[in-house]
Amino acid sequence: MIEKTWDLNRITDRIQMQAIQRRRPLSCTLELTYRCNFHCRMCYIRMTDAQAAPFGRMRTVEEWLDMARQLFDAGVLNLTLTGGECTQYPGFVRLYEQLSKMGFRITVMSNAGAYSDEIRDVFRRYPPSSVGVTLYGGSNETYAAVTGDPKGLDKVAENIRFFRSIRVPVGLNFTVIRQNVSDHPKVAKLCREFDLPYTLITDITGHRYSADYSEAMMCRLSPAERACVACYPPEEIGSAMEEAGELEKELVHFRMPAAPAETPPSAKDACIGSFSGCAIYWNGEMGTCISMRGYHNAKPFETGFEAAWAQLKAEEDKAFIRPLACAVCGMAIDCLHNCAGRRFEGTGSPGEPDPYTCQYVYLLKHCKKRRNDPDAPKAAPCS
Ligand code: SF4
Ligand code: SF4
Repeated sequence: MIEKTWDLNRITDRIQMQAIQRRRPLSCTLELTYRCNFHCRMCYIRMTDAQAAPFGRMRTVEEWLDMARQLFDAGVLNLTLTGGECTQYPGFVRLYEQLSKMGFRITVMSNAGAYSDEIRDVFRRYPPSSVGVTLYGGSNETYAAVTGDPKGLDKVAENIRFFRSIRVPVGLNFTVIRQNVSDHPKVAKLCREFDLPYTLITDITGHRYSADYSEAMMCRLSPAERACVACYPPEEIGSAMEEAGELEKELVHFRMPAAPAETPPSAKDACIGSFSGCAIYWNGEMGTCISMRGYHNAKPFETGFEAAWAQLKAEEDKAFIRPLACAVCGMAIDCLHNCAGRRFEGTGSPGEPDPYTCQYVYLLKHCKKRRNDPDAPKAAPCS
């Protein structure tokens, strides 16, 4: 969300503020590929080439470089490379090197599970501004159960150490599902050893191309389990999961927040991305962020970037409206990951609250009350 403490003595805040005021692009996510070295049960994008074929084709290095020049001319400074696993994109090394030479500030989002010597070499020569690494467990056994790679953790830990050795800032996320939730203490210990904080990701949505392509909806935590994982320290994960059964019973009193009969004026529901960000997907379509794939996407490789940007901004005036139910909801203050993109992912409409979110926020409040801990953590906001 756009509520942020601005410090106009900081050049980055000033640039961001100017981009917002002018509604000009500053940050762009390039989702290079649907391919991945891991095969996670809950993945929202990984596909085989045959599964992906009906949805388009990956863009070539030359096409991405041409798009990067258009982004450069439009004023984009920050690029986030993601996937799938972006380093599995054919031609990654050449593309990454050229993007680095153009001067973009590059963030690499990665599972850090399969770097060739060439990839490490290019990161050494052109260190990214930062790296976001997602963890899927605290042991090789759990990595095998979640990602299919029985040596997954060893590889990931080695590559985190590599990034630290070349002084690249590393951010860690732990994606939590039924198959790895009991590893929370091990993950916490691992992150302590790295001396790095981590963010819990318990908000899992379905595969974006076909529900048949992953087990996301079967292996995600229930709203009660999510609330307990958020409220209990990692070392008490056993108690947290036991408590989830009891907490679930509170849902008997839960009612979906409803829109009022009398319609108040609609409120903008704008995040920073909706003013100054965009995402270009592996098949060349473009939306405001990764979550908005499929919502009136533009086609920058066909129209040129500036025309696609204008189309996107015009669509957003309709999409980024806070639902009336949320506008009057008493839980809204605790509901941090409720943006247009998240609603679109959960319900297929940016204007519909997702019951999975609402139940979680409701139970989080009850969980904090039961533990007499009003300061227990909230869900991670959209980043
Ligand atoms: S969740 Fe990430 S690491 Fe796992 S298969 Fe999907 S893209 Fe790969
Ligand atoms: S999404 Fe959040 S703010 Fe909207 S109705 Fe549900 S709990 Fe309330």
